[in-house]
Amino acid sequence: MFWADEFAQTIIDSGKHRPYWVDDMKTPSGRVHIGSVRAVVTHELIYRALKDRGVSVTFSYVLEDHDPMDGLPVYLDQKKFTPHLGRPLFQIPSPDSGYASFGRRWGEEYKEIFNSIGVHPKVIWGSELYLSGRMNGVVKECLDKASVIRDIYIELYGKNAKPKGWIPFSVVCEKCGKLSTTMVTGWDGDRVAYECKINAVDWTKGCGYRGKTSPFSNKVRYAGKLPWKVEWACKWKVIGVTIEGAGKDHMSQGGSHDISKQVSKRVINYPVPFYFSHEFFLTGGRKMSSSRGIGSSAKEVAEIIPPYLIRFMITRVRYNRAINFDPEGNTIPDLFDAYDEVAVSYWRGKDKKLARIFELSQIEGKPPAEHFLPRFRDVAYYLQDPKVNLIDQFEAVKGSELTDWEKQVLNERGRYAKIWLERYASSEKVFQITKKVPKEAADLTSEQRQYLGEVAKLLGKEWSAAEDLQQALYEKAKERGLSGKNAFTAIYTALLGKTYGPKAAWLLIENKEIAVNRFKASVSRKG
Ligand SMILES: [Zn+2]
Repeated sequence: MFWADEFAQTIIDSGKHRPYWVDDMKTPSGRVHIGSVRAVVTHELIYRALKDRGVSVTFSYVLEDHDPMDGLPVYLDQKKFTPHLGRPLFQIPSPDSGYASFGRRWGEEYKEIFNSIGVHPKVIWGSELYLSGRMNGVVKECLDKASVIRDIYIELYGKNAKPKGWIPFSVVCEKCGKLSTTMVTGWDGDRVAYECKINAVDWTKGCGYRGKTSPFSNKVRYAGKLPWKVEWACKWKVIGVTIEGAGKDHMSQGGSHDISKQVSKRVINYPVPFYFSHEFFLTGGRKMSSSRGIGSSAKEVAEIIPPYLIRFMITRVRYNRAINFDPEGNTIPDLFDAYDEVAVSYWRGKDKKLARIFELSQIEGKPPAEHFLPRFRDVAYYLQDPKVNLIDQFEAVKGSELTDWEKQVLNERGRYAKIWLERYASSEKVFQITKKVPKEAADLTSEQRQYLGEVAKLLGKEWSAAEDLQQALYEKAKERGLSGKNAFTAIYTALLGKTYGPKAAWLLIENKEIAVNRFKASVSRKG
């Protein structure tokens, strides 16, 4: 049985965990790594599997914008945002216009991404959970039973885990608005006493204020929050979550989930939801964050492969096995081939499990009826030959006319093939240096010609790593006030007669002599 179906069956057979409510969560503190997409898709697959069994089930996603900003993404203006460190994300201004807050900015982007891959949970903003007053009951329970929570930490982490008199709550400082710097020192059943410690953390300073305030939030005031591991259990109770897993980092022995389970049982008296631990989604590390500027954010991955392939690569791997996605080389063509294989399994009833993977990889609704699938690597191959008409070519492969739907599929694969060729394909497979100077080279501007002259000089040096040359190509363009696009177009045009090509450094290293000669010649031409 497919793994999400196994989960659904186990949940139903247990007779517990009703009403079925699947939940997952994330702090929207910056661009979302593709790894978090695995978490949300894993939960959504269990949700779909339950629904497919005819039971009523809800799926929610908490965007925890009430959490403090505890670090600054490198791509943001450091000077502008550093003063906000330690403050709640929903009270920090958005770096871009059109969003109510910093937390909303990233939360909305994430929502957009998971919606685009067919994941549509009921979104709950952490700030609203507190501001609506819904958390107040559990906040009181946790403050009243602070010593029980302290015991839980000590049982799990040793006698120095929390000091005597420790209270599980962080207040928003009434003077400086920071959440990460305050320490609660007392609770009288009505108000908490606290101090905003100047050196509480090493990444931002507190203001030294001491005061007493209510820990209960209301429409106009966010009072503060429970520590994350305690809050996790409290959210289960407040939202009514009965099914929630997490990445293996939270699920390890002594991890956050161990604390949450105990809090659930011993402090707030709520049954622990059905849980599981899923493996990580790794990306090609250095390669992914190479000089092409392609990182491992969910948004960037969504630009290089179609949404259903993102679903497919998560769905096809059992939840407890790691996924490593490295877009270099043949990863993307192989992924398309594997997708085509499960499609055929579904259409021809070959393998039940593969068929189910195809079904669950769909963005929405039922899978399309059987149709011709142009092989991705062939699309990429023919795309480079200006003499080939793609539609004619694939009608010949199919042996009959392409339907409108098939033309759309071909068109889409062509679009992604072009991205793959430009960024990830290895040059020996797909590109050919023209025998003579291509006629397209006559259209290069004098700036582009000058740039090629500089590249010829760069090639005179020894390059042990292609990555370093690639970086140097970028820097040289920048130095000359040329955009990356215009610079690389010049290289491709002079060598391939095309405006795009494989990674330039690799192409140049493999064809050094011809590149140097051609580039030198292009500088001396004046027209
Ligand atoms: Zn303060």
